[in-house]
Amino acid sequence: MALNANWKLILRTVCFALLSPGSHDKSRDWRLLSRQTKTSGPDTTRGLLLAFGYPVVEEFLARRVRAAQIAGIARLTPFVIIANTINALVVAPVFLQFLPVSYVVIWLSAIAALLSVTTFKWLKAKRTPIELASRRGLSKAVRHATILSSLWAVVPIVAFANGNTAGMWIASCVTTAMICGGGFALATVPQAAIRWVAILFLASTVTLAIDSNAFMWPLFFLLLSFTLVVIGSVTSTGWLFASHFLAEAELKQRGELIALLLNEFEEKDSDWIWESDARGFLRNASERFLNASGRSKQDLHALRMIDLAYSLKDTDARMAVGKLEAAVSSKEAFRDIVIGVDVNGQERWWSLAARPIVDAKGSFAGYQGVASDITEARRASALVSHLAEHDSLTGIGNRSWFLKQSEQLLNEESRSGQSLLALFLIDLDNFKVVNDTSGHPAGDELLRQVAGRFSELGDGKTMLARFGGDEFAAFGSFVCEQSAAAFAEELVNVTRKPFRIGRRDFAIGATVGFARLGESNDTIDDLMRKADIALYKAKESGRGRALAFESEMEREVRERRALESDLREAFEYGKLNVEFQPIVDSRSGKVVSSEVLVRWLHPTRGEVPPDIFIPIAEHAGLILPLGNWVLKKACTAAAQCPELESVAVNLSSVQFLDPNLVEHIMTVLTETGFPPERLVLEITESVFLQDFGSASQKLETLRGYGIRIALDDFGTGYSSLSYLRQYKFDKIKIDKSFVDEIGERSDGLAIISAVIALAHNLGLEVTAEGVERQLQVDALRTLGCDTMQGYYFGKPATSPVQITRIKKEDWLDRAPSTAPSHPPARGRLPALLPAPIRDLKADQA
Ligand code: C2E
Ligand code: CA
Ligand code: CA
Repeated sequence: MALNANWKLILRTVCFALLSPGSHDKSRDWRLLSRQTKTSGPDTTRGLLLAFGYPVVEEFLARRVRAAQIAGIARLTPFVIIANTINALVVAPVFLQFLPVSYVVIWLSAIAALLSVTTFKWLKAKRTPIELASRRGLSKAVRHATILSSLWAVVPIVAFANGNTAGMWIASCVTTAMICGGGFALATVPQAAIRWVAILFLASTVTLAIDSNAFMWPLFFLLLSFTLVVIGSVTSTGWLFASHFLAEAELKQRGELIALLLNEFEEKDSDWIWESDARGFLRNASERFLNASGRSKQDLHALRMIDLAYSLKDTDARMAVGKLEAAVSSKEAFRDIVIGVDVNGQERWWSLAARPIVDAKGSFAGYQGVASDITEARRASALVSHLAEHDSLTGIGNRSWFLKQSEQLLNEESRSGQSLLALFLIDLDNFKVVNDTSGHPAGDELLRQVAGRFSELGDGKTMLARFGGDEFAAFGSFVCEQSAAAFAEELVNVTRKPFRIGRRDFAIGATVGFARLGESNDTIDDLMRKADIALYKAKESGRGRALAFESEMEREVRERRALESDLREAFEYGKLNVEFQPIVDSRSGKVVSSEVLVRWLHPTRGEVPPDIFIPIAEHAGLILPLGNWVLKKACTAAAQCPELESVAVNLSSVQFLDPNLVEHIMTVLTETGFPPERLVLEITESVFLQDFGSASQKLETLRGYGIRIALDDFGTGYSSLSYLRQYKFDKIKIDKSFVDEIGERSDGLAIISAVIALAHNLGLEVTAEGVERQLQVDALRTLGCDTMQGYYFGKPATSPVQITRIKKEDWLDRAPSTAPSHPPARGRLPALLPAPIRDLKADQA
């Protein structure tokens, strides 16, 4: 019959224990054994090996086991000493009958010495109990037992060798008792016990051989079986002892680990352990739990976790309770359930995890788990998501939030098909001016106020966002097209009312482009694109208005954008040019000045008029470098042409608003060596429409350097006269539309006459533009107009030298002009005329 692996191991162990002396290095053997242990595995086997002194566990634990084994012997030491003493006292007198006194004395002394050592060791161990024992310590104990058993082994051998009946009786009894008693007293150290028993067994076997009689074999087998039973019991006791100890040690170690973890856990302020009974009521609330809940132990124990979750009156918290209720009613483990709790009136959020606990009968007995206060983390993540979705300056939504929400709304609404959806893009007008003139804090404040007004207008029904800079967007549903258009108008109107920032009022205005969903299956991107096109158109047509997207806009805008990129390229590659148009003195007829006009010959479209591409350059942010380039060209060319008293350069309103305008101009003048007195800058009144106080200052500075300023296109606006009073100019240029009326309308002449008189009264020089006919020349000269410009004198030419060659005779000798081509028109008089003149003219008409 094949022995199973465990039993083989036990046998081997016993053999090793028996054969190998205590001090012998067992490393080889134990390696062999422990290798088998790994395969046989269970703790009981390790316990067995350990019981025999083989360190199959970590040395520290092995030392503790050895100490416990030795302590196990030590516990019985007093009885052992007493038993040995009694036995010795019984044996000695009997042996004195047949042995020399000296022999008995020597034996007794040896026993006494050994017992003294034992007593001494026992007393020492009692005073300072040993916690750890080395392998040598255990070997010593084994050796001690071996020596003592050897001394007792002498007793039966001597008794039977002498054949003394009393001696033999006493020896048999003592040896039997010793095998049994000693074996059990040493059971915690099986090696010692086995040696003890084995030595006495051998001695007994020898005595049986000495006194061989008919009972020898039966007695031997009796002795053998008796010894084996003792050895078996001893081994199993030692084994159980070591196994128990191991299990206990491991349990303790695990307990320590758990305690350590718990300790650490309790160190964290935001976490605590909680417990509930089968009905859900909280139990054994820790100090930390009490603190976190802001309730007394009594109060807390009268509540369930669900009751705590109900304490916070908040929609989020209400929703959270449902989850907890579901988890608890399932009586299963749960984690990451977040609940809101009212703690002394404050809102706190806890994350819960728990495992069900079962009682001895295996039925549900409540929950045990961990709670963490995650209020701060929750707040932080709420803040992060708020920041991710909102514009930090104005507090309204940002672009990504807007697009996401709009898409959602679009999907919902388009399915219902009930209402009309419209997307609005809003661009503030003149916002940059506020930033430039009053600084960024004022600009920020303005944006906040604008957002406030828009929000009020939206009334919570329309989504609102800031896309960045001064761009806003709105998306909402409307009952009809008219209401969407009215909303767009309102968006413009609310920005027209002045904004009070600090002690100043700012009027800005806005331009709105919007697109309606209509029948089409537009996506949010389509709507955005369409609203953007409408906005582009609205800006192009003069800002300050709202425009709805129309399908034909798309083509126009596309074309404009193409033109914009072509212009950029043309400018970059030096494909633009300038031309010079003569301005002649009315009295002398000499060319005294020249207006510089920019030219662009498009490779496929041909000549593109500046009226078209200058606004594009303004929109594309190209006007500043372009204007600078024109100025440089003008100054360089005019510097070569001393016959020209001056050169006139047009300034776009965008250029004029540039805070570095004066600096740029002066740099060009310095670079080209052109004297400022010879430069005339032509500006239109659109410049003043956007003025926030800096225009007047700029004009003063430029004039201070000797540069002259001309008010271009005079009369085309509505408040030209008021500008003449408000700002300082050197010159006005009467617009071509008025010159055209000379000879066409009966009052044409009267208007120009009044304007010239007024200008002269203010000390301004007057230039008439667009002079094409002799009639106009004659009339203007008669009315005292200072200078004239028009095709009559010459079209713009590529070189200034070319135009200076025009002589008075050239144009004076031309054929007289024909009669007016249209009958005199009646009706409206231009607003530029002062009221008395206007009235007078109306009467005449
Ligand atoms: P503007 O400043 O009023 O320039 C005068 C415009 O009238 C020029 O048109 C000129 O060619 C045109 N013109 C002159 N005499 C006559 C005439 O007898 N009959 C007719 N029909 N037209 C005449 P242009 O060159 O097309 O310029 C148009 C506008 O473009 C200019 O009006 C000016 O506002 C702008 N512009 C031209 N060059 C520049 C420039 O370099 N910078 C800026 N910012 N604007 C410019
Ligand atoms: Ca001009
Ligand atoms: Ca003009």
